[in-house]
Amino acid sequence: MPLLVMKFGGTSVANLERIRNAAQKVRAEVARGYDVIVIVSAMSGKTNELVGWVNETSPMYDAREYDAVVSSGENVTAGLMALTLQEMDVPARSWQGWQVPIQTTSAHGAARFIDIPRANLDAKFAEGFKVAVIAGFQGVSAEGRITTLGRGGSDTTAVAFAAAFGAERCDIYTDVDGIYTTDPRITSKARKLDKISFEEMLELASLGAKVLQTRSVELAMRYKVRLRVLSSFDDTDETSGTLVCDEDEIMESKVVSGVAYSREEAKLTLVTVEDRPGIAAAIFGPLSDAGVNVDMIVQNISEKSQDHEKPVTDMTFSCPVDQVARARKALEAARDAGQISYETLEIDTDAAKVSVVGIGMRSHAGVAARMFRALAEEGVNIKVIATSEIKISVLIDRKYMELAVQALHDAFELDKAG
Ligand code: ADP
Ligand code: ASP
Ligand code: MG
Repeated sequence: MPLLVMKFGGTSVANLERIRNAAQKVRAEVARGYDVIVIVSAMSGKTNELVGWVNETSPMYDAREYDAVVSSGENVTAGLMALTLQEMDVPARSWQGWQVPIQTTSAHGAARFIDIPRANLDAKFAEGFKVAVIAGFQGVSAEGRITTLGRGGSDTTAVAFAAAFGAERCDIYTDVDGIYTTDPRITSKARKLDKISFEEMLELASLGAKVLQTRSVELAMRYKVRLRVLSSFDDTDETSGTLVCDEDEIMESKVVSGVAYSREEAKLTLVTVEDRPGIAAAIFGPLSDAGVNVDMIVQNISEKSQDHEKPVTDMTFSCPVDQVARARKALEAARDAGQISYETLEIDTDAAKVSVVGIGMRSHAGVAARMFRALAEEGVNIKVIATSEIKISVLIDRKYMELAVQALHDAFELDKAG
């Protein structure tokens, strides 16, 4: 039997009516002759509520219990989806991660897949079950504890099942009708793309476009999964939505294909650290050990160089706002242990990151200049810049984030097809 994976995100299963709507889409694919693996998220808002309860109960929580609580939202929707399908006379049953069993690493809160054995599901399909409903976002560790994959992780569950079961396609049903040139909630000029390359989507996702979890795009690229994003609210067919695919399947030839943003960023500066070999390792080693995701880094001559006999430098880096406390603690511990010295630690928690992405940048010069000019014309000051082969990111004041996204979308004429 040909097989499809269909994933429904939080807003698509937000209440019983929406679950019925999603189930009808599943039933339609079964009627077309497919066996279907359905991956469900928790009802929208549920995971946030569960995370809140954990934090309120225990700020320095045991990550294993965090996962026990936070994974539960998906269990509810998996059972309800199976029941809804049964009510429609579609043979279905639900599976929690451990029942499959979806084997993951023991990195609680950020676990990775190790294996998805097919035997249990294959046996059910052989018995005549048409639909296996899987609770997304979760798995089980070698120690037998429940794990979760990180926020947005149901996308990754979907792609991993598509890869493991050789699905014809992995359809991600969500609250937008595809992948756009930027978040359509930020500008109405955002344009829906028919196709986007794995490389560009990977970059957009890792720079903040939460329409797909980064890891899901990585897996799809590695295992050549045909990955599609489409609306669970519209009538859809094979041509709907946006296909994430190889570069050579794409006709469009824009230099920049999308703008991404990440709202909650912080900028930290260590003022006057010694300018000597090994200083970067001495600073970023402890940050990494503390689990801080350092993103952009700049080292520059300290304003206070003249006041010091030995050379000194300032070290600036960015990280997510919710990791600032951890970063500060790690840096202070390194200073107390005599591994580094600095005069002050300046912390700016009002930053946001805006990035332009496009594989065309590999062969076109001038993108950075155009980007900086567009921001200058809007009076947006740039705090930090980072580039790679196919992206340019800037750190700016959070209050200018929307403005910057709109200005860049205009500057690169993303509303027009290329
Ligand atoms: P789900 O709950 O279905 O997983 P998410 O909220 O995780 O949905 O992702 C969908 C959201 O991603 C959209 O509502 C949209 O606001 C946001 N988004 C950000 N960037 C983009 C983009 N480039 N294209 C489409 N949606 C985007
Ligand atoms: N429910 C989880 C979250 O909100 C996983 C997901 O929706 O993909 O992060
Ligand atoms: Mg999501």
